[in-house]
Amino acid sequence: MKPFRYHRASDIAFACASAAKPAVKFIAGGTNLVDLMKLQIEAPAQLVDITRLPLNGIEETAEGGLRIGALVTNSAAAIDMRVRRRYPLLAQAILAGASTQLRNKATTGGNLLQRTRCAYFYDATKPCNKRVPGSGCAALEGINRMNAVLGVSDDCIAAHPSDMAVAMTTLDARVETITPEGSARTIPIDSLYRAPDNTPHIETVLTPGELITSVLLPPPASGRQVYRKVRDRASFAFALVSVAAIVAREHDRVRATRVAFGGVSYKPWRSAEAEEALAGAAVTRVSFDAAGVAALRSARGYGHNDFKIPLARRTLRATLAEAASLI
Ligand code: SF4
Repeated sequence: MKPFRYHRASDIAFACASAAKPAVKFIAGGTNLVDLMKLQIEAPAQLVDITRLPLNGIEETAEGGLRIGALVTNSAAAIDMRVRRRYPLLAQAILAGASTQLRNKATTGGNLLQRTRCAYFYDATKPCNKRVPGSGCAALEGINRMNAVLGVSDDCIAAHPSDMAVAMTTLDARVETITPEGSARTIPIDSLYRAPDNTPHIETVLTPGELITSVLLPPPASGRQVYRKVRDRASFAFALVSVAAIVAREHDRVRATRVAFGGVSYKPWRSAEAEEALAGAAVTRVSFDAAGVAALRSARGYGHNDFKIPLARRTLRATLAEAASLI
């Protein structure tokens, strides 16, 4: 690890002003950043420790939702009874991620901003446009089994690794931030992440020094919430494919639904195509299959990850069947 300076921030303004400078990074749980520093994939000149900032509460909002502070640990969010009762999808997704030890350290803000687990991103001997812009993408012709099939470009096919963010996307969460100039912004989570295009090293719309302060959950949509994750082993593994779904039935018809996929794109992939296909549809596996076909119509495999396309369709069907109480 390269030497770096360390400052513990005592207020938000100081933290943002410090991190607006080049080569300065925020650190909270550090569950991703420290690994990247050990590998010298990240080599900040200075870390700004934000763990003492007052961003670790979960509070009710006037509109009937919840505001989850950026420093709330994944474990604390998953066991909060308001989260478990009103957003069970979110608790399920968080508990499907990482290990207990990591969830005890990892924070809400850090979870959203964790970097991809593309193996070539972590291998400094291989070309990677995300790590070294313009160097190429080793995953295109390499072992790309874990990589994305939707919304990516030939410059980068990395998948976003978060489970929590997939649930939050289905819940229409908004990310609250503060800039070094002191302005507050609210960003719909679906707009937080930038498509890779030809600049895959720029991953979000956040500006230098802009700090995520909280995530706002609106009142829960009606319907049953389910998170399903398919992975290589039963715990401590990233999703090959995951699906977060909320399904509201009216007799034998789907009244409303929300669907997002994990493991298939550079961001949690909200599927308007699946939601449109399901609007008013009969609650049957045939309808759910049709939604899967619609959702994956624009998907493209890169060889080793071709299997993700049919897997995503089947995972969607199973998740919808569970959410609609067919199984
Ligand atoms: Fe790097 Fe993205 Fe290619 Fe992986 S997919 S090697 S992260 S450019």
